[in-house]
Amino acid sequence: NGFEQFKLNRQLLNAIDDLGFTAPSPIQEKAIPLALAGHDLFGIAQTGTGKTAAFVLPILMKIKYAQGNNPRALILAPTRELAIQIKENATNLGKYTDLRIKVAFGGIGIKKQLEDIKEGVDILIGTPGRVMDLYATGELYLKEINTMVLDEADRMMDMGFMPQIRQMLEILPSKKRQNLLFSATMPQTVVKLSEEFLEFPETVEV
Ligand code: AMP
Repeated sequence: NGFEQFKLNRQLLNAIDDLGFTAPSPIQEKAIPLALAGHDLFGIAQTGTGKTAAFVLPILMKIKYAQGNNPRALILAPTRELAIQIKENATNLGKYTDLRIKVAFGGIGIKKQLEDIKEGVDILIGTPGRVMDLYATGELYLKEINTMVLDEADRMMDMGFMPQIRQMLEILPSKKRQNLLFSATMPQTVVKLSEEFLEFPETVEV
């Protein structure tokens, strides 16, 4: 299996085998070693390139085991559909771990999602508005986030999520947080966001 080249643990390699991935895609080949080494990343890649696994695998490797109640990784996506898709990918890749991977999005009641999160979460995937709403309840503790991903950043900017993202960055501890930003295109708004969000990033492009 072509994923053996990365320093991934056996649980992840077995899950990759189950999914039938035989070789890393170009974005995975470039991004995974850099993310595993702890770099901030600016990934320029479209959907369909395997970008999700490119950021999910290093997160699974870093977070490793269920611990405490509060999320340690936060992945923000522009839409409910994308958030669900990332959650499914992460659940499949994390199937041999005990990590609690949960998703939260707007458009439905908040109560169930809140209860779900209060049961404990290691990796939280969500849309910016709903994650801020959950935080506003006082029940979502974000100070243990050590890894953050902004996926499809260009779409998030188009959809007007910049204020929520800014607000979130002010809440999260910035010390030693690893940040990953993925975007299909690089408009000025995304370049500006990357300058605020990323520290000495490596850029990967496919
Ligand atoms: P994404 O670009 O992350 O939305 O992924 C597109 C599709 O490719 C998803 O269905 C993934 O499960 C699949 N995929 C991701 N990485 C690989 C790989 N290395 N080999 C084969 N399929 C993959």
